[in-house]
Amino acid sequence: MAKRKYHGQCPLCGREATLTRDHVPPDGIFLPPKPNNLITVRTCRSCNEGSKLDDEYFRICAAVSWSPSEAQWRLWNEKVMGSLQRSPKLNAMLVHMMDAVQEEHKRKPLRFSDGTELTAEQAALTLPLLKSRIDATIEKIVRCLYYAESGSVLSQDLSFDISMEHAGETRYQTCLANPRLVVGTHREFVYYFDRLSPAPESSWLLWFYERQLFRATLTPSQPGLHIAAQSATRAS
Ligand SMILES: [Zn+2]
Repeated sequence: MAKRKYHGQCPLCGREATLTRDHVPPDGIFLPPKPNNLITVRTCRSCNEGSKLDDEYFRICAAVSWSPSEAQWRLWNEKVMGSLQRSPKLNAMLVHMMDAVQEEHKRKPLRFSDGTELTAEQAALTLPLLKSRIDATIEKIVRCLYYAESGSVLSQDLSFDISMEHAGETRYQTCLANPRLVVGTHREFVYYFDRLSPAPESSWLLWFYERQLFRATLTPSQPGLHIAAQSATRAS
């Protein structure tokens, strides 16, 4: 039987296109057996296929932390190691970045967010990941979740302010104890949002393996700034 084709607005780029099923978060971050409540949305082919490398990169982020859980070790051993062996370029890039961090640490010691200096041993284990690539995945997840929750597509004119947070902070405890949804027996993915509206501001919490917590705050971007930049260019 031929697959049914769906036509509609892509929740990621906003274009009208033929849509195919996509998982949020990327299904590669889950441990087997696959959870039975995976979230699926339909996105256009170019958004779906265009994010495969970012998805793989994001899986590395989900697998590491300063105190990895047993489930994170499993993700690392069962999925990340294999993908690094298959992608020598990605592997070489990570090794290069880890070396650079160690060099940097010798010049100016790295610190945790509470101000404590990392030991040389900790610096040697630090895996730096590019914020822009991680943020691309977080934005994609929020856009798809918003669509799954509300049935409407978030505007392209939005700013996503994305940061990594400490789940232990008091202000997050109630939110994380009352999540919107938990996916995976190892709590691979948990999310929470304060209100289903892009304006004036809304916040989303995405929590992976009960370790990596991301907060995304959505604000309408200001088109006036672009206009100002244009006229400044014209004036010069
Ligand atoms: Zn798209």
